Amino acid sequence: MPSDVFFADARETYGKNLFNKTAKLLKKLNLRDMVNAGDTVAIKVHWGEKGNTGYISPQVARLVVDAVRDLGGKPFITDTNTLYRGTRRIAPDNIMTAIENGFAPSVVHAPVIVADGLYGHDFVEVPVKGKHFKSVKIAGGIHYAKAMIVISHAKGHLATGMGGALKNISMGCASPAGKQNMHSDVKPSVDAEKCIACGSCMKVCPAAAISRRKDKKAQIDKTRCIGCAECVVVCPGAIEVEWESEASLLQEKMAEYARGALAGKENKCAFLNFATNITPDCDCVDWTDAPFVADAGVLASRDPVAVDQASADLINQSPWTPYPHKLKTPDAADKFVALHNVDWQPHVAAAEAMGCGSRRYNLVKIR
Ligand code: SF4
Ligand code: SF4
Repeated sequence: MPSDVFFADARETYGKNLFNKTAKLLKKLNLRDMVNAGDTVAIKVHWGEKGNTGYISPQVARLVVDAVRDLGGKPFITDTNTLYRGTRRIAPDNIMTAIENGFAPSVVHAPVIVADGLYGHDFVEVPVKGKHFKSVKIAGGIHYAKAMIVISHAKGHLATGMGGALKNISMGCASPAGKQNMHSDVKPSVDAEKCIACGSCMKVCPAAAISRRKDKKAQIDKTRCIGCAECVVVCPGAIEVEWESEASLLQEKMAEYARGALAGKENKCAFLNFATNITPDCDCVDWTDAPFVADAGVLASRDPVAVDQASADLINQSPWTPYPHKLKTPDAADKFVALHNVDWQPHVAAAEAMGCGSRRYNLVKIR
């Protein structure tokens, strides 16, 4: 059965700014039906790496917090620790990054909590019936919350083609060990012809898997590599992953984690996708490149599969921006595939197969 996806386009005018529109979308989600008085409600955001400005703003999170509080719920803003080095690897750094990016309790009207604890060890093994996993490692602060509202930035992603709600509840709700489980098949390699020996990859590798050859160029020890893909992000063009085979495995695993994140919250989750400032990369990077397509708008649904499918469809219908983004496969009809040469559809299809939702949707436009 198709799921309802409510959609407000990106145009704004008097009385119809982003916040007015988001408030209308929240009403459409009928939160009253999923939040009971006294419920702890995880507002799952991505508060961005330090240096990134593409993440969805804390003012949007506050709107959701206030809506939950009006229903008697106990909201908290949350995200998890990362697998790679950076400003969100352990909770003290992660919280400071959140605050510096604007997610302070005084701004969002709620506590800001790292859901998997100080070092990422606070997780729950949630049973799933997956092809890859029998259980998945979901951050305790998210698993034990009674309900969850997920705020996602719909944009491109190096490993999954597109990142939206499913990325946010799979990789985003997993502890670092869970993230590593998902990435275990991702093993990049260095094209020595293209390597300029800049050393950037060695500085970011959390597993000390990259060393210099005699000619100073980089080489990767695949037995040490944990597949975090951090080196791929910083390399100016010499490190590649065989995404054609490895991306679909990663995406299947993500779908199993998404199922685990939703476990115990049947009919207690809602999803807001912002298909605005649609950047090529995710908000985990410490920069925000210019968007590759024009803003589409904001989508809301109780179904994470439907909201991602609809977001991808709308983004594909949006015109390219004039920025000269390097397209890996410029002839591809799908804009995400053109950009990264990675098909996003496997993770959405796998999430549907895992029972997370439906790819069929009714797009209900709101004014
Ligand atoms: S070599 Fe492996 S562990 Fe090191 S940064 Fe690259 S993907 Fe991550
Ligand atoms: S980041 Fe890329 S170009 Fe620089 S040393 Fe590593 S592999 Fe070579």
